[in-house]
Amino acid sequence: MAKQPVNVVFLGPPGSGKGTQSRLVAADFGIPHVDTGELLRVVAQEPTETGQMVKHFLDRGMLVPEKVVADIIERRLSEPDCAWGFVLDGFPRTMSQAGLFDAILKKLGRTLAAAVLLDVPPNVVTARLSRRFVCGKCGAPYQSPRDGFPDQAFCQRCGSKLEIRSDDRPEVINRRLGIYARETAPLIDSFDRQGVLVRVDGTGKVEDVFARIKSELSRRLGQGFRQKT
Ligand code: AMP
Repeated sequence: MAKQPVNVVFLGPPGSGKGTQSRLVAADFGIPHVDTGELLRVVAQEPTETGQMVKHFLDRGMLVPEKVVADIIERRLSEPDCAWGFVLDGFPRTMSQAGLFDAILKKLGRTLAAAVLLDVPPNVVTARLSRRFVCGKCGAPYQSPRDGFPDQAFCQRCGSKLEIRSDDRPEVINRRLGIYARETAPLIDSFDRQGVLVRVDGTGKVEDVFARIKSELSRRLGQGFRQKT
């Protein structure tokens, strides 16, 4: 079988560990991790009309208009480093975005190898989100073992200060979970019908969840994918 670039998307509620796990998978395959939220946070810092508009939606935990997001994703997936494949985190997030995503894949001549769904119960995600911090500079995620400020107040990767994301405030968390249930959960059935859904138990230790994802992905992708060496 010809070896193919591996194109994977991650699904799961906010706080399901999507960011952490999709980064690990991307590093393991040697392909880029494309983080939709992070791409949008960069745009939100630009002093342009689009930047200010994106910031408005991000600060309220609301979905950014899909045309803006789809353009950003298409541009990123067209970059040369994505020719080997990509791990896409945070897009598509609605049925309508799934249609735009199909069109982007078609345009770029790509097929989706797997949609990994991290299954985590709502009470677990709420607890995780209220203990989540990110590096203000590189966006690396951290989890505090208890409520309040994290043990390590500086990023282990780049040394910058850790902060609470503006959309991880309690009232915004509830809104984001509601959006997930209404808008994103219907995608699960759609990916299942396409035969690409990979459902993984996302509870427990990071390394255990990663081992489950790896084993499911290797079973599904077999030797038919191309891994960078
Ligand atoms: P995340 O980092 O994935 O939790 O996303 C943070 C925020 O970015 C979300 O609350 C939305 O405001 C925005 N966002 C991320 N992905 C999308 C998307 N696919 N469509 C619209 N807005 C998005």
